[in-house]
Amino acid sequence: MSKKVMELVDKDLGIKQCKVCGAVKGSCVKNGRAVRGSWQCQYGCVMPARAPITKSEG
Ligand SMILES: [Zn+2]
Repeated sequence: MSKKVMELVDKDLGIKQCKVCGAVKGSCVKNGRAVRGSWQCQYGCVMPARAPITKSEG
């Protein structure tokens, strides 16, 4: 299972923003439905599986 990196910021315009790199995608909606693959960042960002636990680093 993979989490979506794109967050819908404007559902009317179908604008999504990558939660990883902040890239914004627009016009991802056709006929009221999200275009296939629109939930993936154009730069191929992926959500980190888990937050690395580091203690006393540095
Ligand atoms: Zn991204």
